[in-house]
Amino acid sequence: MLVCNTRKALHNAIDESLQGQKSIGFVPTMGALHEGHLELMRRAKSENDLLAVSIFVNPIQFNNREDYDKYPRVAETDRQLLESVGCDILFSPDEHEMYPEPVKERYHFGALETVMEGAFRPGHFNGVAVVVKRLFELVRPTKAYFGEKDYQQLAIIKALVEGYHLPVQIVPCPTVREADGLAMSSRNMRLSPNERAIAPKIYKALSKAASLRNVLSPEEMRIWALNELYKTPEFHPEYVEVADASNLQPLQHWNDAASARIFTAVHLGPVRLIDNVPIF
Ligand code: AMP
Repeated sequence: MLVCNTRKALHNAIDESLQGQKSIGFVPTMGALHEGHLELMRRAKSENDLLAVSIFVNPIQFNNREDYDKYPRVAETDRQLLESVGCDILFSPDEHEMYPEPVKERYHFGALETVMEGAFRPGHFNGVAVVVKRLFELVRPTKAYFGEKDYQQLAIIKALVEGYHLPVQIVPCPTVREADGLAMSSRNMRLSPNERAIAPKIYKALSKAASLRNVLSPEEMRIWALNELYKTPEFHPEYVEVADASNLQPLQHWNDAASARIFTAVHLGPVRLIDNVPIF
């Protein structure tokens, strides 16, 4: 695995790969890798000549300083996991390398960014768009792989690629879960044993709610899931939304959408967990 810490080193490595007509599958991450990340990487490796991964804890997408400071950073373990999935190129820049100048770009995603994560984490998706666009320009991937765990992020990235005609194919990948249903997340490491034991109730509440589609309206389903989450006193839900899976707008009637999902963000102890499941 070639490790590049500078944009120049990465640029040279990518130039060489492209001259050899190699297709590049790219997985951008913030590290503290788990099976969810590794699944994306295995798929990228199997569908392309080369696998490129970035690890960069992107300060401008955090709207909570403590979340940024306490975000897990485990470079050596990550490196071993990357070797195990056959990663060819790792790009792991520091903050100055990624942002030598203050960031001024402002991206607009219309209604996509006014709901859920966009509404509760001001500036978050702009930070995501800035870093992903820069990474795409540096890595020049054929395909880039993103998890449905961050479903709204995936929609934002698709809009970015479409809006700027970026020459990359976005590949959505299903959420990878622990055996008890908890969506894998780097932030799960920060849960206490008791918090970890109850965290799967988030997924259980969403999937049970989704199964009630024939007896509840979208709004009734939203309230049902919220009430279910409130039954666990350690949970502090920020929102539950039942939305059209294509534009992420709250759904009034089931017939209004070709497919729908239910989404939530829940504070549990020191962390904020997000999850979503398909309804149909
Ligand atoms: P992160 O390091 O959290 O920024 O995530 C990097 C990529 O991995 C994003 O595309 C995430 O959506 C994806 N990802 C994170 N957790 C999971 C999971 N449990 N299942 C599938 N993809 C995931």
